[in-house]
Amino acid sequence: MKRFALIGAAGYIAPRHMKAIKDTGNRLVAALDPNDSVGVIDNYFPDADFFIEFERFDRHIDKRRRMGEPVDFVSIASPNYLHDAHIRFALRSGAHALCEKPLVLNPWNVDALIDIEAESGRRVFNVLQLRHHTAIRALRDRVAAAPPDTVFDVDLTYLTSRGHWYGMSWKGDIEKSGGIATNIGVHFFDMLNWVFGPRRGSVVHMHERDVAAGYLEFERARVRWFLSINAAHLPPEVAAAGKRTHRSILIGGEEFEFSEGFTDLHTEVYRDILSGGGYGLADARAAIETVHDIRRGSVVGLKGDYHPFCRR
Ligand code: NAD
Repeated sequence: MKRFALIGAAGYIAPRHMKAIKDTGNRLVAALDPNDSVGVIDNYFPDADFFIEFERFDRHIDKRRRMGEPVDFVSIASPNYLHDAHIRFALRSGAHALCEKPLVLNPWNVDALIDIEAESGRRVFNVLQLRHHTAIRALRDRVAAAPPDTVFDVDLTYLTSRGHWYGMSWKGDIEKSGGIATNIGVHFFDMLNWVFGPRRGSVVHMHERDVAAGYLEFERARVRWFLSINAAHLPPEVAAAGKRTHRSILIGGEEFEFSEGFTDLHTEVYRDILSGGGYGLADARAAIETVHDIRRGSVVGLKGDYHPFCRR
């Protein structure tokens, strides 16, 4: 049984980590969050120690190490811009870091972590949960089995409506979240790279507070992508059905079905890591480079091969 600590325990995604730790037969021994709305801990690990101050959490983790009951993993579910600091804390504490997406905001943050990881003798793992999705894995196999010169035409649409709170929170602050393409899109950019091979080019058609769109070229695919958190972008039939999320991947004009199978992927991520697998710094790099280039690159406007939703 492995001992876990969790940073960012009061947040939206934290219960998925608590559930994954429990489902894999392990134990949460300590948690940190400056926000004390953490009653959810009782659903999983009522005996876990909880801290609202980093310094006391640090002291506790250090004491455990000295007493011969070290934490094996620190799970990190804090805001994106804090991930690298929290990863360094985990490694310095002699634990592996198991960090949410995006691992970091910029490629040079990955480089720094590679050095520290090597010095520490511990590992940094990233939650890249779409790589565990059954349909996505099948798609990867399908692409690998296609004639090597096949290049697929893909339209990726991900609409996940958020209320006004989003803009008021750290998620709406580009310095903290990286903006919508980074915060929401990184899953999909990682998946595209994993399925279709290395990225060859990128054009950004739109990049605003609530919507982003562009064109990406991979070794085996040309992808028009559109991401939005604005409910006004939902197709009328989706909105009429009372839904606030719409995911679609069209491959060669045909819908690729992947609407189900998203719920327990964190547990799959944990299972994989605990059985000697997992995705690390090198695996995370391509998508971090993609979102960085999208964030920092120029926005060309509606020119060239843009996603049809850009005209909505
Ligand atoms: P959230 O804002 O709901 O939770 C973040 C938590 O971190 C909050 O409780 C906040 O108080 C806490 N926090 C802030 N500063 C801290 C600090 N210095 N030390 C410790 N805790 C601190 O956000 P969320 O939606 O739960 O997202 C958390 C992370 O998970 C982000 O990196 C996000 O990108 C990622 N995420 C991943 C998925 C996924 O599907 N894999 C989904 C949502 C979010």
